[in-house]
Amino acid sequence: MRVAAKTKRNIFLVWLLLVPAGLWFTYQTFPPHFSGQWLDVIAFLILTSVVAFMPMVINNTPIFLIQWVSLATFLSFGLFVEMIFAQAAVIVLLLRLRIQKEQLFRIPLNLIMFFLVSLVSGGVYYALGGQTGPTIINNLHSLSLAAVYALVNYFLNQVIISFYLYFIYKSKESYFGKDFIVETVTTFITMPLGFVLYMFYNQQGLLALLIVAVPFASLSIIFKLYYSSEKINAYLQKAAEIGHQMAERLEVDGVIDLLIQKLSEMLPVDYAYIFDVVNEDELQLIRRIQDGDHELPLNIPRIKKNEGISGFVWSKGKAYLYSTGKQWKQYSKGYIPANAESILAVPIRRNKKVIGVVMLASKRKRAYEKSQLMIVDILCSYFAVAMENAKHYEVTKNQSERCALTKLYNYRYFEKLLNEEFNKLFQFERKVLSLIILDIDHFKAVNDTYGHQSGNEILRELADRLSKLVGSRGTVARYGGEEFVVLLPEANKAEVFQMAEMIRQAIANWPFTLHQSLELTQQQIKITASIGVATAPEDAEDPLALVRHADRALYVGAKRAGRNRVAEYSSC
Ligand code: GH3
Ligand code: MG
Ligand code: MG
Repeated sequence: MRVAAKTKRNIFLVWLLLVPAGLWFTYQTFPPHFSGQWLDVIAFLILTSVVAFMPMVINNTPIFLIQWVSLATFLSFGLFVEMIFAQAAVIVLLLRLRIQKEQLFRIPLNLIMFFLVSLVSGGVYYALGGQTGPTIINNLHSLSLAAVYALVNYFLNQVIISFYLYFIYKSKESYFGKDFIVETVTTFITMPLGFVLYMFYNQQGLLALLIVAVPFASLSIIFKLYYSSEKINAYLQKAAEIGHQMAERLEVDGVIDLLIQKLSEMLPVDYAYIFDVVNEDELQLIRRIQDGDHELPLNIPRIKKNEGISGFVWSKGKAYLYSTGKQWKQYSKGYIPANAESILAVPIRRNKKVIGVVMLASKRKRAYEKSQLMIVDILCSYFAVAMENAKHYEVTKNQSERCALTKLYNYRYFEKLLNEEFNKLFQFERKVLSLIILDIDHFKAVNDTYGHQSGNEILRELADRLSKLVGSRGTVARYGGEEFVVLLPEANKAEVFQMAEMIRQAIANWPFTLHQSLELTQQQIKITASIGVATAPEDAEDPLALVRHADRALYVGAKRAGRNRVAEYSSC
C-alpha cells in the first residue's frame, strides 16, 4: 500500500498541531492524580512498554493488546497519564515492528489515533460522571462506567482504523475480515484483565502488576510459539509438496526452474544464485536470477573454496543468514548487486557431501528468518535428489538416443523424429520435408589400408563437419555403418540439393587427418561420398517411402553413376 508523500507530510503536521496542544488541554482540564507515587507510575509505564513490545502475531498481523493496561492506568491515574502512556506504547510497538524509513509516517498516524481514542473515551467517561483515582474502588457507578469506557475505546479504535484504511491507504479490501474478528475477541478477553489489575493494584500495591503481568506475558509467549510452530508446519507441508513436484521433473533445467520459482513464491527473493560443485575445488554458477524471474548470463568465473560467501558456505557445509549488507559486503566476491541487503546461503548436500550452494538475496533488511533457513535447507535436500535423478535421466536418454562413436543422434532417434516431422506435414504445420542420405565411397578400402581405428577417426571428423554445416537448419544422424542422414524441415528440392552439394564438396575437397594410422605418423587422406536426396510430399507420402527413395537416389543416381556425386530421386 503506497501513501503519497504529501499525505505523509500532512500526517506529521496534524500530529504537531493536535497532540501537544491536546495534551496540555487535558493536563489543565483533568489534572492527573498521583501524589508522589512516582515509582508506581514508572512501574505502570514499564508494564505498558513490555506489553507493547510483545504484540501477538496472528496470521502475520501483529495484534496490539495494550487496551487493558490503558484501562487500568486510566482508572488509577486519570486521563493525562493514560494518554502519555498510550503515546509511548505506540512508539515502542512501531520500533519493535522495525518499520522502514518510508513507513515512518505510521508513527504520527498511530499517535493521532491513540490520542483521539484516549481523549474521547476518557471524555465520555468523565461526562457520564465517572471518576478516576484510588477512591473509586467502592464507587459502583464509576466501576460500571469502566465498561462504557472500554466499549467506547474499542469502537472508536475500529472506526479510526477503517477511516485510515479507506482514506489514507486507499485499501479496497474489506476491513471486517479474519484480523478484525481476532482483534475483537482478544480485546474483549483482555479488557476485564485491566479491571482486575486496577482492583488488585489498589488493594495490593505494585505486587498486583506482577501477579497480572506475568501470566499475560507467558500467554503471549505461548501464543507466539504456537503460531510460529503453525507457520513452520505449513512451510514443511509446502516443502514436501515441492519435493514431490521436483522429483517428477525429468530435466535438470526443469528442476532448477521449479526450485527458483517455489523459493520466490515462499520468500522475498530479488536475486537468486545456484552453484554446482564441478570439481574438488571449484564452484560453477549454473543459474542467476534477478527480480524474481529474469535470467542473467552466467559470466562469473568459477569460485574456489572459501572464496566469497558461496565458497565459504561450501567449505563449512553450513547455512548462513545475513540481515544487512554490512554483515557480508566484506566477504563478497562482488557479483551480488550493491543494493542487496539480506542474504540466505544454504549448502546443497547429497550423502553428506556438499554438491552445490543456493544463495538468495533481498533488497530488504532482515528479509529472512531462521525458520526459513531450515525450510530452504529441506528444499535443498529434495533438490539434490531431484538433480541427481534428472542428471541420470539425461545421461541415459542421451545414451539411448546417440551413437557413442560420433555423438550424433542414432537411427532410433532419427526414426522417431522422422515420424514426428511427417505428422506435422500431415497436419499442415509444415509444407515440405527433405532428406539427405550419404554413404562414404569405398570405405572398406580405407579400413583395409589404414585400419579400423583410422576408419573410426574419419567417421568422427565427418560427423563434426556435417553438424557444423547443417547447424540449426536440420538434424544430422548416423544411419548405420558409414551412412549418415540429414533431415531438413522446410527445405524444398532446390535447397536440399544445394545443401547436399555443399556436403559433398566439404568431404571431397578437404582431406581428413588420421592421428592413429598404422604408420604412426599423422596422415592426410582424401575420401568422397555419394549422396541421395528426396523431398516429401513431392517424392514420398510416408516416412518409409522418403527413406527408400532417397536411398534409391543414392545407389542408382550416385553410386552407379560413378560415386562422389549428389542424385535426386526421380520417379522415372
Ligand atoms: P561403396 O559404398 O562405395 O560401394 O563401398 P564401401 O566399401 O563403402 O562398401 P560398403 O558400404 O559395403 O562397406 C561399408 C564398410 O564400412 C564396411 C565396414 O568395414 C565399414 N564400416 C561400417 N561401420 C564401420 C565403423 O563403425 N567403423 C569403421 N572403421 N568401419 C565401418
Ligand atoms: Mg554402406
Ligand atoms: Mg560405402
